Amino acid sequence: MSTVLVIGAGGVSSVCVHKMAMNAEIFSDIHLASRTKSKCDAIAASVKQRTGQVVQTYSIDAEEVPAMVNLIRQVQPSLVVNLALPYQDLPIMDACLEAGVNYLDTANYEPKDEAKFEYKWQWAYHDRFKEKGLMALLGSGFDPGVTSVFTMWLKKHKLKTIRQLDILDCNGGDHGQHFATNFNPEINIREVTAPARHWENGEWVETPAMQVKTEFDFEAVGKKNAYLMYHEELESLAKFVPELERARFWMTFGDAYITHLTVLQNVGMTSIEPIRYQGKEIIPLQFLAAVLPKPETLGETTKGNTNIGVIATGEALDGSGEKTFYIKNICSHEAAYEETGNQAVSYTTGVPAMIGSAMLVTGKWASDGVFNMEQMDPDPFMDMLNSEGLPWTLEELSGPVDF
Ligand code: NDP
Repeated sequence: MSTVLVIGAGGVSSVCVHKMAMNAEIFSDIHLASRTKSKCDAIAASVKQRTGQVVQTYSIDAEEVPAMVNLIRQVQPSLVVNLALPYQDLPIMDACLEAGVNYLDTANYEPKDEAKFEYKWQWAYHDRFKEKGLMALLGSGFDPGVTSVFTMWLKKHKLKTIRQLDILDCNGGDHGQHFATNFNPEINIREVTAPARHWENGEWVETPAMQVKTEFDFEAVGKKNAYLMYHEELESLAKFVPELERARFWMTFGDAYITHLTVLQNVGMTSIEPIRYQGKEIIPLQFLAAVLPKPETLGETTKGNTNIGVIATGEALDGSGEKTFYIKNICSHEAAYEETGNQAVSYTTGVPAMIGSAMLVTGKWASDGVFNMEQMDPDPFMDMLNSEGLPWTLEELSGPVDF
């Protein structure tokens, strides 16, 4: 039995709140606040219709720390679940510290004026959370989130050390639009247009964005081009799996997506440098995000599967030499929509946000300070993935990846 306050009312939040309501024995009292209250009300109406549970809704600008503190004091949750945007991470953490409540998010802090995400800003809160006897759990989505839990489960049960790690993220869904992103367009485009970076022999190796690619045959999707990218869990994995010789992140993109993105980049529409337009300052990428389809509207038309997993090579725990394992989840867009009214990219993020929240409010994961997923016991989280709609499979491969 617990009271939770969820911030943000996009696709990820919608899935998380629906799944919380479906687990009313854990989340007995759900409160939802966002900038636009009507979006909270729409989620609450869908939750009521699908589960019979009541969700209380509020309007909040999460960057206003005193207003956040007031709301937390009014609701008195045991956990604040931040499913707004990465820009709001630090103000929400500040409000949690002041009001004395635990914190969870799915994406690490990013300053608005620089497309650069790093854990350093949030790790700097560790001592303050620890002193107050509070816990902050960072990155409880799929990637980051489940990918780190998959890796630590392999380290606990299969591999003594991990030498090489490849994270493979494939969205094989088709939404029927010429160009759309499956989560917040501004954050998504900032991420994919940033230079690629991977971890090799103790240092970061940078390559231009969307230049290094490999073709991979994804189960339940087929052959796709996967591009080397930087992704935030590489930073925490390099820290918490120090023996890693190489860690890389790959994401699939179709040719039409790349063509559209290239044109938008070439004409300056993905820039985050402010420009003046009709006497007003605007940011081209924010304007582009405003005209693109909203991710939460793609659910009904998106067909196909996502396939996200981790391939790890290292020394087997049972002393049988070097082994390679592939652990992954396949999620159907149609099934996700049927269950929660949202497509699979929101589903694969919102379900782990609910599971991470369950770990904290039930005390299965409990510690004082700021923590990444790699620092927690993977077993109870892996069990809930199976029971909550994201079942995973484990396969032994004949050897390390050849790309
Ligand atoms: P959306 O853009 O659909 O939703 C974001 C929500 O946050 C909106 O409801 C928005 O309000 C609200 N919001 C924005 N600014 C504020 C503010 N200042 N105060 C209060 N609310 C605010 O995003 P998604 O649902 O697609 O993504 C949510 C988060 O999940 C993002 O941080 C994203 O990076 C992360 N993510 C993580 C993944 C993972 O696997 N770890 C994968 C996918 C996403 P309004 O409606 O008024 O604009």
